[in-house]
Amino acid sequence: MKQIAVISGKGGTGKTTITGSFASLSKAGDIIMADCDVEAPNLHLIMGGEDVCSDEFSGARVAVIDPDKCSGCGICSDVCRFGAIENCTVNSLKCEGCGTCSIVCPEGAVEMKDEITGKTYITDCEGMVFSHARLEIGADGSGKLVTRVRKNAVEHLEEQEYVIIDGSPGIGCVVIASITGCDAALIVTEPTRSGLEDLRRVLSTCRHFGVKSFVCINKFDLNTQITGEIEEFCRNEGLEVVGRIPYDDMVIEGLKDMKPAVEMEGSQAGRQIRSMYLRIMKLLKEEDADVTGNCYGRF
Ligand code: SF4
Ligand code: SF4
Repeated sequence: MKQIAVISGKGGTGKTTITGSFASLSKAGDIIMADCDVEAPNLHLIMGGEDVCSDEFSGARVAVIDPDKCSGCGICSDVCRFGAIENCTVNSLKCEGCGTCSIVCPEGAVEMKDEITGKTYITDCEGMVFSHARLEIGADGSGKLVTRVRKNAVEHLEEQEYVIIDGSPGIGCVVIASITGCDAALIVTEPTRSGLEDLRRVLSTCRHFGVKSFVCINKFDLNTQITGEIEEFCRNEGLEVVGRIPYDDMVIEGLKDMKPAVEMEGSQAGRQIRSMYLRIMKLLKEEDADVTGNCYGRF
């Protein structure tokens, strides 16, 4: 089993469009999909399907004071570094769940309780297993929820060879949770100055965690000069640009009908995504032979 994360330095680069197309290109028995963009999940819009199970997720703890036991001494309020306790009442939005108040309370009036911060789902998309989740608004613990989504996907593996992960954008803890332990990451970027900078940052995150990286330049033809700069950067870094996807109005048309680009007849972008998918699968199959070569970049 191999896990491949599709990530980007920021949102809106076309990451989910590409992941949705990968799902369409794969056979149900070959892959499991996981949407790890738990703060703004949208792969389910393309995937469709029917939820076959869901579970509440508790990613945080909060302090709760029992007023019947509380003597009103105020010690808990004094020790809380986050200013979460006022008048013997915990503000759950400020509570970081450190548990200090429960340790110092002389009356044993503080209990640490699990807080429901999200919900996980397993969806059946015409035989393909799709693991995803939704984080509650303002909730903490998104990195833990990403880990649960990946764990759920792996637990549903039967004969499938690949888990394809729609990762979170950026370089924060949700991205780290999306890529840690993955066999490869496809970094999707776009030909803008910020796209190039985002690529540098997200690449350094991948390398820090020892994840092999490929690059896809989405809408490469919108600025061929910066596309050239990105390609030069990749060459210098020993990274393979596995996909150059052209701007294509048909991608937008497809999204209106929740159809991935590869299902839009005559779509140039769809054609290139298909080629990129085949290239990645080939590279992964050749992994053992290529692992010390340049395909995956330096670590
Ligand atoms: S430390 Fe315990 S008894 Fe004192 S105010 Fe806090 S909860 Fe109440
Ligand atoms: S658990 Fe920590 S952050 Fe929360 S109220 Fe108690 S001391 Fe403050």
